[in-house]
Amino acid sequence: MQSSQPELGKKTMTSPDLRKDRILILDDAPENCLLVERILKKAGYGEVISTQNPETALEWLGLSGDPKKRRPVSLLLLDILLPGGQNGLDLLRQFGDREELADLPVIIITAIHDTHTLESAFEAGAVDYVTKPFDATELRARVRSALRLRHEMVQRRRREKDLEEITDKLSEAYQTLLRVSRTDGLSGIWNRRFFDEILDVEWKRANRSEKPISLLLIDIDFFKRFNDTYGHQAGDDCIRKVASVLKETAKRAGDFAARYGGEEFAIILPETDEERAIVVAEKVRAKVVELQIPHKMSETSESVSVSIGVATGKGNKNDMNREDLVRMADESLYESKAGGRNRVTPYSTLNRNDS
Ligand code: GH3
Ligand code: MG
Ligand code: MG
Repeated sequence: MQSSQPELGKKTMTSPDLRKDRILILDDAPENCLLVERILKKAGYGEVISTQNPETALEWLGLSGDPKKRRPVSLLLLDILLPGGQNGLDLLRQFGDREELADLPVIIITAIHDTHTLESAFEAGAVDYVTKPFDATELRARVRSALRLRHEMVQRRRREKDLEEITDKLSEAYQTLLRVSRTDGLSGIWNRRFFDEILDVEWKRANRSEKPISLLLIDIDFFKRFNDTYGHQAGDDCIRKVASVLKETAKRAGDFAARYGGEEFAIILPETDEERAIVVAEKVRAKVVELQIPHKMSETSESVSVSIGVATGKGNKNDMNREDLVRMADESLYESKAGGRNRVTPYSTLNRNDS
């Protein structure tokens, strides 16, 4: 992990830096504003600003007027009785759904000590209250704890955001890792390991849905001779080209092409009966020949060709398992080889002792 990434699990209990907090006082009495300012400045708070005008306060808080006049505030001390018969609680209710004020603690200043007003204040989102006339020690204590609360909330939110980012990055990395671990490095199509996983899933699905599933096993003809004649590098290129043919031919949703081993490939065709699987196999065979990769040592064609075995499972109508499907495709492939190569053999056409 890079050092710039946040350290998880480490509890940061730093105390808030008083000089960084800007405290706003909205009170209709200028002498109250001055008094509170004096007490808090003396306590070491960096910036204490006050106004008797609710409009100015709203502008500073960024709730109205010119956005450039916004002055980020860490704490609001709000008088209940405001000029022009306005009520501090009405103002407080306006903050309710403003995301930018979600972490702003509000302490109510009140001369009235009635429980009903205080209840409404807490309901509207106030975190605490102080009563007039002010007691300096009490005011300082309440301001300190409100700011600490905010500080912790901001930190928690930041940690949550960091955690979210890390989770996103991890899941992205996991997806990449998964894709790489399932891809064949040489050909770029899926690898044997993923083939096994997909065949398992599709086989079970076919059994549940009682729909047929077909498997093609494809092997390049006389490939050892090809390597011997044109070199291993040319052999690799040939594998890549054959893989692209498979990929572009098996393109129906659910079709799955993989490199099965050295110069062998496999295509899983869900919901496909033998007849349609033969069509796909024929298409693959013909397209490989059409690549016209010269192969002068091939006994079956002037260019690179493939032999294909086709096997089909018929849902759960028989007691086959997926290994049987692979074995059947393999036997069919063997028959294609024995029959002269560059051909497609469906399992149903094999002369078997057991049939
Ligand atoms: P057949 O027609 O019966 O399939 O004959 P073949 O020569 O293709 O079959 P064999 O199994 O004898 O040879 C397969 C060759 O494939 C041998 C091996 O060197 C080559 N091969 C396997 N993997 C790779 C690879 O990744 N790159 C290259 N260039 N060759 C490979
Ligand atoms: Mg082979
Ligand atoms: Mg071969």
